[in-house]
Amino acid sequence: MNAPASVLVVGASAGGLAVAEALRREGYAGRLTLLGAERHLPYDRPPLSKKVLSGAMQPEATLLRPATALASLEAELVLGDPAVRLDAGAREVATASGRSLRAEAIVLATGLEPRRLPGQGQWAGVHELRTLDDALALRAELLTGPRLLVVGDGVLGTEIAATARGMGLAVTLVGPQAAPLASQLGPQIGGYLARLHADRGVELRLGVGVEALVGAGGRASGVRLANGEVLPADAVVVAMGSRPAIGWLAGSGLQLGDGIVCDSRCRAADGIYAVGDAAWWHHEGLGTGLRLENRTNAIEQGMAVAANLLGKDRPYTPVPYYWTDQYDAKIQVYGLLPAGAEVAIVEGDPARGQFVALHGSRGKVTGVVGWNMVKAARLRRQHVIDGTPWTEVVPTDAHVGQVGIASAARYG
Ligand SMILES: Cc1cc2nc3c(=O)[nH]c(=O)nc-3n(C[C@H](O)[C@H](O)[C@H](O)COP(=O)(O)OP(=O)(O)OC[C@H]3O[C@@H](n4cnc5c(N)ncnc54)[C@H](O)[C@@H]3O)c2cc1C
Repeated sequence: MNAPASVLVVGASAGGLAVAEALRREGYAGRLTLLGAERHLPYDRPPLSKKVLSGAMQPEATLLRPATALASLEAELVLGDPAVRLDAGAREVATASGRSLRAEAIVLATGLEPRRLPGQGQWAGVHELRTLDDALALRAELLTGPRLLVVGDGVLGTEIAATARGMGLAVTLVGPQAAPLASQLGPQIGGYLARLHADRGVELRLGVGVEALVGAGGRASGVRLANGEVLPADAVVVAMGSRPAIGWLAGSGLQLGDGIVCDSRCRAADGIYAVGDAAWWHHEGLGTGLRLENRTNAIEQGMAVAANLLGKDRPYTPVPYYWTDQYDAKIQVYGLLPAGAEVAIVEGDPARGQFVALHGSRGKVTGVVGWNMVKAARLRRQHVIDGTPWTEVVPTDAHVGQVGIASAARYG
């Protein structure tokens, strides 16, 4: 297959930029356009809930590349103009400002949009955290010293709680699970995370969902829980997960489900590919469809799609990976943690805040969780690649628990 004469990438962030850079690295000399909804140059999201929120990192430091490096890409950068329609047959994208962009190949990299509580946009003092602008608005609010209520017991909610506690704020975290991240990592590791937050002074209100925001005079004053109780707060962050930002693709002719449905080459249709948080593709190695929400995947999938655009015709078969930083804990997750998976601590000791846990299913290691054991966890990743038999690496006297529901490497 010949390389397309022109490539349009929709979504100018980690995944989209990775495609553009990999194309140029491989010698692609055709016309390249990056279209982004935000007015910022491409920036990195992981620092937003950590160092940007705390003030340890200035917004400019989040840029994925300095302006000079972007210029050397020789790509047309169209920013602040969201795509609103795709004609897949004609390979043509219409934008909010009325542009019409056509290319021989199109890569969709539009990421996620946050789930919201009913009427969320109407209340002052209520935040979400997906973009740099969100992070700066939330930081400005945190600097006023509010009692903060975090709605959401997933990775993002717990990170925000940790950062806000680090800033000395009173923080309550509320969510429906018995422990934070319990459905992803299992109740046992979720329990260690709950302990970490409680020890640092976060008030945990777990096992109960939030029904609505409450307030007066247009400003939120807390939330009402599913059990009717009202939790008061001066500021609320809603971190209840996200969904793929694919509404604009309705009517495009592409198959949409839990993301943009792609084959094993990340191809959604002839000449149309998807990467990053918005892409659902067939993972040949795992024999299943998958959508990942993490930084590493955005890059790796971007490089894989660039290779396929240049005619390599390779399936994309990564070992999923994400990390989260909370207080002084770095937690890393490799592989898959399927429904009903067994969990066993194989190195370190949770009581000392350092351990590696393996997740296993059908007699094989499928996932690894490292807690402040970066190198050991990375080495154990090989078990996931090899499908190492569970009994070969888990001592018979290891404590074995179970994961609740299926989870892939989804940061959100
Ligand atoms: C606060 C935060 C912290 C995170 N921390 C971690 C972490 O610690 N570890 C980890 O592994 N992952 C983390 N992640 C996840 C990681 O940042 C994402 O997986 C990664 O950014 C995905 O890249 P992407 O390019 O697919 O999507 P995104 O980075 O979301 O980029 C999508 C881009 O598309 C644009 N867009 C959307 N719709 C349109 C449209 N219609 N037209 C044009 N452009 C559009 C958006 O404005 C956005 O710029 C974090 C995410 C957030 C939000």
